[in-house]
Amino acid sequence: MSFSSLGLTPELQRAVDDAGYTEPSPIQAKAIPACLEGRDVLAAAQTGTGKTAGFTLPILQRLSARAYTRNRPVRALILAPTRELAAQVHESVERYGQYLNPRLKSEVVFGGVKINPQIERLRDGVDVLVACPGRLLDLVGQRAVRLDQVETLVLDEADRMLDMGFLRDIKRVLALLPAKRQNLLFSATFSKEIRTLTQSILNDPVTIEV
Ligand code: AMP
Repeated sequence: MSFSSLGLTPELQRAVDDAGYTEPSPIQAKAIPACLEGRDVLAAAQTGTGKTAGFTLPILQRLSARAYTRNRPVRALILAPTRELAAQVHESVERYGQYLNPRLKSEVVFGGVKINPQIERLRDGVDVLVACPGRLLDLVGQRAVRLDQVETLVLDEADRMLDMGFLRDIKRVLALLPAKRQNLLFSATFSKEIRTLTQSILNDPVTIEV
């Protein structure tokens, strides 16, 4: 299978070419079309499977199809367990989105660093926000960001987020999102807790196991 058959726009295809990817990984081959269609996705995927491009490329494509509105609300929210993963995902969003015109804005926020520079960077709005749950809630509490226009939610490494005790924070974030939205959940393992979370969040998901 070739990347070109997945229906990515030339701008995104160019970034894929730059990255040197010749064919989609198995998870990308399944996740990209499902995400582009607006479906919810449940994917059993470890790091190294290409899952990041699997959700980033279709998110960028869907967002770039429609211009942002005046106050540039967050339209895609990606939750990740650690600052390292969040930073990595943000870097992918920037890289795959580099040829979009106009560019989409993305930011990453996590705890353990000063909050004020993050508030500043969110001031003019962002299209894609990559966040660790705790710091995201702090920023919402300070009215630095609103989540009521989120169209797509990604829970990346959902099992690790639960292992790290983020379930309550995730639930608090979920309560701030519009009920009608796309949900993409990636997890390496499927404990009882993950299955419960999955059932409460996902709506008729496309299930992917690779
Ligand atoms: P991830 O599982 O998203 O952390 O990606 C793991 C690594 O695979 C990253 O370094 C990507 O740059 C690389 N990668 C992602 N998709 C592809 C692909 N289709 N072909 C080759 N490498 C890829």
